[in-house]
Amino acid sequence: MEKNIFLKIINKEIPANIVYEDNTSMAFLDINPNTKGHTLVIPKKSSKNLYDINDDDLSDVIKVVKKVALAQQKALGAKGVNISMNNEEIAGQEVFHSHIHVIPRYVENDYILGKHIEVSKEEMEEICEKLRRELEN
Ligand code: AMP
Repeated sequence: MEKNIFLKIINKEIPANIVYEDNTSMAFLDINPNTKGHTLVIPKKSSKNLYDINDDDLSDVIKVVKKVALAQQKALGAKGVNISMNNEEIAGQEVFHSHIHVIPRYVENDYILGKHIEVSKEEMEEICEKLRRELEN
């Protein structure tokens, strides 16, 4: 996988299901979700991961993580959420632009680390629209 595909999403060079965007952060659906609505929140400014992200970007991103989690609860009916960040290859990081996973939970055992689910393009777009609308408010 390309090491910084997220810069292309920020620059709108490739499509993504973007649910939220402001001056410093962006949130979009993970193309390979663990559960429906699995979202990635990233800073627009480049940093590799937790080790080099600046404190302002980190604080902006974590605020968006909270907004997204609340939107998943309201718009998708999530009953809980897992927040995770993989830092460096040894920890499973594949894309080297800081990102936080926001993984909504619906039923017991619906999230197993490394296990992905199939979601059609149409359903991804529907989920995106629901979250986008909720996050507009
Ligand atoms: P990791 O670096 O292991 O924390 O995970 C990178 C995540 O980015 C994976 O869950 C991928 O499914 C996801 N991903 C990779 N490319 C894209 C893309 N173009 N759009 C959305 N998500 C992506």
